[in-house]
Amino acid sequence: MYTDSEPGALGVGGRRCEMPLTNEEILRYSRHLIIPEVGVRGQEKLKEGKVLLIGAGGLGSPLALYLAAAGVGTLGLVDFDVVDLSNLQRQILHGFWDVGRTKLESARDTITALNPDVTVQTYETRLTSANALTIMADYDVIVDGTDNFPTRYLTNDACVLLGKPNVYGSIFRFEGQCTVFDARRGPCYRCVFPHPPPPGSVPSCAEGGVLGVLPGIIGTLQAMETIKLLLGLGETLVGRLVFYDALSTEFQRLELRKDPACPICGEHPTITGLIDYEEFCGLHTPPPGFDGIEHCQIRPRELKNRLDHGDRLVLIDVREPHEYSICRLEGARLMPFSTFAEHVHQLNSADEIVLLCKNGLRSLQTLQLLWEAGFRKVFNLAGGLDAWAKQVDPTMPRY
Ligand code: ZN
Repeated sequence: MYTDSEPGALGVGGRRCEMPLTNEEILRYSRHLIIPEVGVRGQEKLKEGKVLLIGAGGLGSPLALYLAAAGVGTLGLVDFDVVDLSNLQRQILHGFWDVGRTKLESARDTITALNPDVTVQTYETRLTSANALTIMADYDVIVDGTDNFPTRYLTNDACVLLGKPNVYGSIFRFEGQCTVFDARRGPCYRCVFPHPPPPGSVPSCAEGGVLGVLPGIIGTLQAMETIKLLLGLGETLVGRLVFYDALSTEFQRLELRKDPACPICGEHPTITGLIDYEEFCGLHTPPPGFDGIEHCQIRPRELKNRLDHGDRLVLIDVREPHEYSICRLEGARLMPFSTFAEHVHQLNSADEIVLLCKNGLRSLQTLQLLWEAGFRKVFNLAGGLDAWAKQVDPTMPRY
């Protein structure tokens, strides 16, 4: 993709311009055009640029807005989620009246209102091993705005196999990270993070929270790196990771090294195609003897019926105390997941136990833990208190 005449320029380097700017575009982008390092040719490169955003959420919001405003010609968006009221604290692509719509519809409207010249390609699907290479093939830069490990490894591997840069960002509570993985010139995600963390050990933003401005800062850094890649300008974050701590307002830069033994971009790669990333991240590996979660799930309605019927169920809430103070199920005992193992002995395996948390993930991990400890009469409240609030008790606050 690189040419001698314009080192670093992506995809468009050296080619004669096929998309000259209109007079309206010259006015719209005038503040770019008068920067000598950008100029008309730079703006044409942005117009010819194709950027794929994985996720139209917290990071995807500032990314989509700034890239569209800057005149990136084609934005691809991959997402399968619906706008929820709890998204609006940070996902500035979406507004109050978009709650309940798909994030892609909402994102398309917002982008088009800002800049109708941008071509928006939407992919309403989960990114999978079956579709990733096809979806990404046509794009110059891939931007990872996801919050789960299987998709991060999948995005990385697909980018390495296709020879594309992966602009990476991640956020949690008050801290964020940003870098550019490009295996042709530096390390890939696997060089730096060879092993996924044990399932459940790193909480997502839905479980652990995130300050609303943080994705704005990290997503905007990602947008800037993307623009630099398209323009072939400056030094990108290839081989360097920026770490941002909002509480101390400090940016740190860490050097990243390419691992010669990396299984996908090293000297002797063992991964030559996409794999099963859920399995790789340990999400399909229940403890021995644990024969599937389906019959251990109890749906909110079913639990309500059993409680109304007077069944003797021990309700255990594995959320943290600050969440318990937001809402709780009557009669549920608080035993936070973070210290659960120390208190298991307080439970009786002869009881019928129903575990619950915010959305059914931590409680499912707790269930596996109890299963390993020999408990067999345990159930997980499917979808957690969030599902309970939606399906059984609309007066319960959701968060
Ligand atoms: Zn690597």
